[in-house]
Amino acid sequence: MSTDFTFSIIKPNAVRTGKTGPILAMINEAGFEIAAMRMIKMTYAQAESFYAVHKGKAFFEGLIEFMTSGPVFVMILKHENAVELYRKLMGATDPAKAEPGTIRKTFAVSVQMNAVHGSDSVENAIAEANFFFSGIERF
Ligand code: UDP
Ligand code: MG
Repeated sequence: MSTDFTFSIIKPNAVRTGKTGPILAMINEAGFEIAAMRMIKMTYAQAESFYAVHKGKAFFEGLIEFMTSGPVFVMILKHENAVELYRKLMGATDPAKAEPGTIRKTFAVSVQMNAVHGSDSVENAIAEANFFFSGIERF
């Protein structure tokens, strides 16, 4: 698999409120190809490990509670320059600062419940994709 991919999560608030389809439509319309996808409910330990870089920050525990509060969709998205392009499609972490037309501007309800995750570097895209998917699950 090429490194022109990123890893994304549709977060519990968006899944719970029926936004999975509309978010996938925006991803498809932006030209990304879904290379892997699965619905899971993360355990506390999995979420802590996934977000280990944020351990110790004020928002960490709330974030872990939130990310384990319901099912999520984890996915690998293929596109040339996928990491950077998907960060643009998502918009800023704080939806108040996100550009119109971005996923977060459209579907986030707060900084915490901001609808989607996207890798912030190629290195992290590889690590995050490997955290959730085996080789035979990727297309
Ligand atoms: N987050 C939060 N409060 C903050 C900052 C971040 O609850 O003040 C949550 C939010 O869900 C965010 C995630 O923690 O998406 C990871 O934060 P990061 O700074 O990595 O933002 P991202 O890369 O998701 O834009
Ligand atoms: Mg991040």
